Amino acid sequence: MKKYTNPFWETKQLNELTNEEWEALCDGCGLCCLHKLQDEDVEDAPALMTRVVCRCYDLQALGCSDYPNRQKIVPECTALSIKRASEFEWLPQTCAYRLRHHNLPLPQWHPLITGTRESVQPYSVRALNPVLETETIDFEDYLIPN
Ligand code: SF4
Ligand code: SF4
Repeated sequence: MKKYTNPFWETKQLNELTNEEWEALCDGCGLCCLHKLQDEDVEDAPALMTRVVCRCYDLQALGCSDYPNRQKIVPECTALSIKRASEFEWLPQTCAYRLRHHNLPLPQWHPLITGTRESVQPYSVRALNPVLETETIDFEDYLIPN
């Protein structure tokens, strides 16, 4: 992966990043690609994480299988952008965008710091024994205990 001489993830705010830097900030953990369940009958019910990963996710490569076309394939996929920063609270607490939105540092295992994408694996969907979404899957069978 590309090495950056300027640690932009420490020195720049999210709204100052170039497109390339914005994309590089993503650690590829895939946690935002897991399905969540929320009780619609309960006001402000917490979103419960499952280990069912989006049908477009490539479990071998650890990433979206068609990132450029992801929203055509999965219309509910959220494209993260600075314009939506106020909505980042739904992202996992380790998400680089969420952390930087709150001016918090990246974890030491982030690929921009370690220089390798391998370091994210213990903190990624792969560590959760994920299953791929199918048309018949029952999400409730795959809730991750708190
Ligand atoms: S949770 Fe954040 S850092 Fe992880 S893959 Fe999603 S956008 Fe990237
Ligand atoms: S379409 Fe790709 S980026 Fe979007 S949730 Fe699915 S796997 Fe993740």
